Amino acid sequence: MKPLDALTPEECSAVEFICTDIDDTLTAEGRLCRESYEALWMLHDSGYTLIPVTGRPAGWCDCILRQWPVDAVVGENGAFAMYRTYCKGRRLELLLHPDVHPEGNKAARFEKIKAEVLREVPGTAVAGDQPYRLYDVAFDFREEGELELEDAVKIERIAESYGARAKISSIHVNVWFGAYDKLKMVLLLLRNIYGTDISADKSRLLYCGDSPNDESMFAFFPLTVGVSNIGPFLEGMRDRPAYITSASHGKGFKEAAEIIIKKRNKQY
Ligand SMILES: [Mg+2]
Repeated sequence: MKPLDALTPEECSAVEFICTDIDDTLTAEGRLCRESYEALWMLHDSGYTLIPVTGRPAGWCDCILRQWPVDAVVGENGAFAMYRTYCKGRRLELLLHPDVHPEGNKAARFEKIKAEVLREVPGTAVAGDQPYRLYDVAFDFREEGELELEDAVKIERIAESYGARAKISSIHVNVWFGAYDKLKMVLLLLRNIYGTDISADKSRLLYCGDSPNDESMFAFFPLTVGVSNIGPFLEGMRDRPAYITSASHGKGFKEAAEIIIKKRNKQY
């Protein structure tokens, strides 16, 4: 991983889409950092298409898209995207990944996973934001609980033993059925709604994240940034970001935003 200073003006000039994780990338201790919100407005005012990409639930995504200066949001680790229609700029539309099951997280197959996780991993719980989820089940290990990373790995393995997919974020382990992830939904959103085949020119997108559930994006795109608090997760990650900030959480995100804008404008 390289420091942000190694970014070239050419790399920064190519960027049109900025996608970012939310938890512990834009937030710290669960709250949106003031630096993050300022950086989102700076990027919005600079003309970028902004898309948060998160494991958070549909209910949160609706609120984020209505309130924040962003253009779309990918939620529940890629189950869906929500985006604005620009006829009036206020109407939201939902794009589902074709692999989501119509029953969503009400399907009976989640019950066995829940029972085994709650029995085998003392201290975990179904996440507090579960009532607002449509397609996955999230287990808490560090949002309200204080479990270790190895507990999250244990939850991940139990879920996978039932044929489910599971990903560890900095706070939850998200469990779902279906061949989708953050990357697959970003590609679908850009192709279907923005008319862009980003695979043909990956340099048009920059991604910022902080944990293992960002790995699909780190693996695919050349221009990826980890905020410095990604450190403790790196050992267990196969795919790491290309660049790393010197500051953590929202301060790191703002550091990246400022450098991208300044180098694009050739102010360095
Ligand atoms: Mg995160």
